[in-house]
Amino acid sequence: MKDNATPVLKVKNLVKHYATNAGTVRAVDDVSFVVNEGETLGVVGESGCGKSTMGRTLVRLLEPNSGTISFMGQDITHASRASLREVRRDIQMVFQDPYASLNPRRTVRQILAEPFDVHGIGRRSDRAVQVSELLDRVGLHQEHADRYSHEFSGGQRQRVAIARAIALEPKVVVCDEPVSALDVSIQAQIINLLKRLQAENGLAYVFISHDLSVVGYLADRIAVMYLGEIVEIASKSSMWEKPLHPYTQVLFSAIPVAKPPSVLRRHRQTLIGELPSPINPPQGCRFHTRCPHVMPKCSMQPPKLKAVAGGEARGHQVACHLYE
Ligand code: ADP
Ligand code: MG
Repeated sequence: MKDNATPVLKVKNLVKHYATNAGTVRAVDDVSFVVNEGETLGVVGESGCGKSTMGRTLVRLLEPNSGTISFMGQDITHASRASLREVRRDIQMVFQDPYASLNPRRTVRQILAEPFDVHGIGRRSDRAVQVSELLDRVGLHQEHADRYSHEFSGGQRQRVAIARAIALEPKVVVCDEPVSALDVSIQAQIINLLKRLQAENGLAYVFISHDLSVVGYLADRIAVMYLGEIVEIASKSSMWEKPLHPYTQVLFSAIPVAKPPSVLRRHRQTLIGELPSPINPPQGCRFHTRCPHVMPKCSMQPPKLKAVAGGEARGHQVACHLYE
């Protein structure tokens, strides 16, 4: 963690539930963290643990049930439609499936001109230059401007989606599994593009992925989610060197490539049992039904996310009774 870190995004006690016929899905349940200027916060966890819900709530595509989200010190949790438009200049999102997020009836030029139109930035006569600059920045060619998204490969489409996201020079981009649908070779190109854009523009990313090796490549800090909660959050180096939560340890032991050093020394572990339903999460620690270190207390008392000792582990927080 940088000493002079300034938070751009502060999330406190964020809750997002879905009401369904089967009951209340506690998709995001009391999550708190900060995202510092220019950094990448990686968010990892199994499918269904609430990553996408959290990401969509951050950009206010979903209305939170409770908690607060502030951007540069300004509370945007319940921002009105009009002020949300301003917020959207600063906080953007890139989705897993650019097929679904790009309008098939519009050309790349139209897609990329839209943010400038909506926010009245520059004149109409500036659009050609604005679009051309965006294409350059994301490594697309000028002749791509007049094509439709279905004429592109998956990687190129994601470049278009990224270009649209960065058009208005946002401070934060929430990336929800942006490379998960792409071939491995293309994944690396998109990740490198995201890295370059961050270096050039001081962007902060919330980078959501179920794939730890991808997150490990990009993230400065990593948050691990389990059943709607953050169970551990730390700098990448601290997490790599010493993952503390039993769930994190299992996740990390299963990384197929580019294993962090501490994991090389650890036996591969597998998770026992199924992911419980977020409609009826286990009492106490939500991980206790699958935890290799479960103690009697774990089924009774939910552990709080707490900082561990200083030194190298500064800023390392874990929610586990083993460390109390
Ligand atoms: P992830 O992105 O980590 O896979 P999601 O945020 O998509 O997790 O989902 C978290 C939980 O919320 C899952 O149990 C999922 O089934 C449920 N969920 C997601 N969207 C909805 C919805 N619109 N209505 C009801 N339940 C939902
Ligand atoms: Mg998801």
